[in-house]
Amino acid sequence: MTVSTAITDIGSLITNDPSLTSADNPLGLVRDAAVVIEGDRVVWTGATSKAPPTDNRVDAGGRALLPGFVDSHAHLVFAGDRGPEFAARMSGRPYSAGGIRTTVAATRAASDAELDGNLARLIAEARRQGTTTVETKSGYGLTVEDEARALRIAAERTPETTYLGAHVVAPEYAGDPAGYVDLVTGPMLDACAPYARWVDVFCERGAFDGDQARAVLDAGRARGLTPRVHANQLGHGPGVLLAVELGAASADHCTYLTDADVDALASGDTVATLLPGAEFSTRATYPDARRLLDAGATVALSTDCNPGSSFTTSMPFCIAVAVREMGMSPDEAVRAATYGGARALRRTDVGTVAPGSRADLHLIDAPSHIHLAYRPGVPLTAAVWQAGALVSADGAAV
Ligand SMILES: [Zn+2]
Repeated sequence: MTVSTAITDIGSLITNDPSLTSADNPLGLVRDAAVVIEGDRVVWTGATSKAPPTDNRVDAGGRALLPGFVDSHAHLVFAGDRGPEFAARMSGRPYSAGGIRTTVAATRAASDAELDGNLARLIAEARRQGTTTVETKSGYGLTVEDEARALRIAAERTPETTYLGAHVVAPEYAGDPAGYVDLVTGPMLDACAPYARWVDVFCERGAFDGDQARAVLDAGRARGLTPRVHANQLGHGPGVLLAVELGAASADHCTYLTDADVDALASGDTVATLLPGAEFSTRATYPDARRLLDAGATVALSTDCNPGSSFTTSMPFCIAVAVREMGMSPDEAVRAATYGGARALRRTDVGTVAPGSRADLHLIDAPSHIHLAYRPGVPLTAAVWQAGALVSADGAAV
């Protein structure tokens, strides 16, 4: 028989439940709430006083409970450390996309066990901060064998795997970018598609132009992968419009946008995924979330965790920066880090706490989700449930 557990006396429950959200209550917030989980699912939400009888009971003590964070953009399969490069950049040197090749060399030289160990450690680190769904990309192998290996390893840890052979042109093809695109859209795709759900391309000056990006995404679509695009991070370019035209699940970065880009994102299904860790770590201009939200675009927040330009797994950090620097309210930032991330991965089972949702829950040592931005840098996570299992808890948390 399936065991049922009630989490009661939740001071402030963020549901993102479409049947509870409204202009006045954008997060579907319920006070003095309870959540009942059975197996891996949420089966009931409502007032603590009306909670049905269950096998177990956990007293939240008036604290806030949120959906687990959905980090829809990360690069977690890699080896090596680029701390010195970060220090040099903070001492005045600009970021260039070519630094990716440093990680490519270290990743190729690493064993499968080393790559998997790094991946597992980063996923656990994220989970301790409330993240229960993680997307991860390939892109540090750049050979047929190394890209397929990265995705094979990743697919053992998360269903949200993205083929990013088109991260940068592999060093072996420095003089022949067209040849590299042929590899990425041909044999490399054949080897990677069985392990990937998504296809992505770094559409940026210094990486891949609009025509090359279209070729990569079209080839991926023909193999059943759904596009997502690294777009408009370092300057204006065709990435966002291409993403919307091809029905990409998300356009990621969105730092340099024209009015046409904003209109396209506001009118289509493509989520604008903002990655403030990248601007923080490269001392660059933050994207204007306010402009996107006011236009009606769906916004997601993600870490972009990678060793070069954003080495953080912390969604609370991204929320705090988005509120402080990008014009988002705490409600908007928390929604973008949960519901927005789920939309960017086209998932309806995560990012919400509602009957039928996967029981991915994040209890924080605070009376309100506002504290995630109000108390920056403070480890507020008290307990995390993933698919109904308590996977992280500090000593006497629950
Ligand atoms: Zn990225």
